[in-house]
Amino acid sequence: MITNDAAASLAINPTEHVKSINALSYDGNALMMDGVSLADIAKTFGTPTYVYSQQAILAAYQAYDDSFAEIDHQICYAVKANSNLAVLNELAKAGSGFDIVTGGELARVLAAGGDPKKIVFSGLGKTAEDIRTALEVGIACFNVESEAELYRINAVAGKLQKQAPISLRVNPNVDAQTHPYISTGLKENKFGITHEDAPRIYQIAHDLPHLKIVGIDCHIGSQLTQVQPFMDALDKVIEMIHALAKQGIALEHIDLGGGLGVQYIDEDVASIEEFAQLLLPKLKTLGLTLYLEPGRSIVANAGVLLTRVDILKPTEHKNFAIVDAAMNDLIRPALYHSEMAVIPTQLNSPVEPKVWDMVGAICETGDFLAKNRVLALADNDILAITGAGAYGFVMSSNYNSRPRACEILVKEGHAHVIRERETVESLWQNEKLVD
Ligand SMILES: *Cc1c(COP(=O)(O)O)cnc(C)c1O
Repeated sequence: MITNDAAASLAINPTEHVKSINALSYDGNALMMDGVSLADIAKTFGTPTYVYSQQAILAAYQAYDDSFAEIDHQICYAVKANSNLAVLNELAKAGSGFDIVTGGELARVLAAGGDPKKIVFSGLGKTAEDIRTALEVGIACFNVESEAELYRINAVAGKLQKQAPISLRVNPNVDAQTHPYISTGLKENKFGITHEDAPRIYQIAHDLPHLKIVGIDCHIGSQLTQVQPFMDALDKVIEMIHALAKQGIALEHIDLGGGLGVQYIDEDVASIEEFAQLLLPKLKTLGLTLYLEPGRSIVANAGVLLTRVDILKPTEHKNFAIVDAAMNDLIRPALYHSEMAVIPTQLNSPVEPKVWDMVGAICETGDFLAKNRVLALADNDILAITGAGAYGFVMSSNYNSRPRACEILVKEGHAHVIRERETVESLWQNEKLVD
């Protein structure tokens, strides 16, 4: 599918590539998402534009729900991966719960029709205000990341004369073998409570009057392609559950976080079904309700970013294709050096393929979307960056006063605008001159 020549350039065969992506296919030469032409979407709504497949999002959610059908479970989609209201609403209607990390995400989930009883609240800096709102609406659980946070939640719950359901995010100290920025389960990470501290802090929670211990939680990282790190984490967490039982602390649920990876180029990635098959035997023996917090694996390959070739700039050393999307729209390549596939929305280009660096127009050398790609490019070609449904739009910014992209949801054969492209004027609407 992919050839690497001596110059380490990457040639992706588009028709092969889309075979691994549920939402995409070529109809003749035209790239389609669920029967809708992506070139037509670009023509109608402009570029850069994010396009998501409702069908593919729900299929991934359903794969989790079905694969764990044998045990009590709740899938809580990690809102931070893609928090558009329409996306959340589709998932809520399918029965999904939500994993949130801020009061802002809580408000979004409620605005999108999410069920508060299926919300788990993660994150290491929950404010008293966020905690109060979450208690008032009655969320399922706070995933607590420090001793200080326990006291804070206890105090807020006390004022409201409520009992706050909590679990501790423990750090199983396993190597997730992923990018250091998205590996979270090691001792040196800022997240969670260490194995050694967990019994003592659980005891504190047990003794605080306004807390109710309901579970245990871990999240070891993101873009994990294999199941083994999850198995290692599960073993460690089960050990802790047995130790807590001896302390007289019984739990109702185990939350294994999110983090299952996706195929961006040609990575060998465990499927949701394989993931479940490997974990289920141990989970069945345990007999607790399973919570999972998948983000990327629900939305990444349900989305593309469409961008137009604006200026071709071949130079002596490199060929640059300056496109109308940039690092402010999609920061993953610049931030994590992620490789994302770029494929044409129209096959059979009449021009010769060359090796291109696909870059944005922002004044930063780090502003690139893809490097050393073999592509046949002409002015105004519309390209699709695949895998862009997760950590794409949500991480976008207005750097260089660039309005953020439009978002489209393809549902039942129609393209719906689910977020209008920002106007330039809106960028300074909260700014004020000083006399
Ligand atoms: C980011 C995050 C997730 C989702 O991770 P994915 O890799 O997108 O599945 C789940 N839980 C917590 C606590 C997170 O921080």
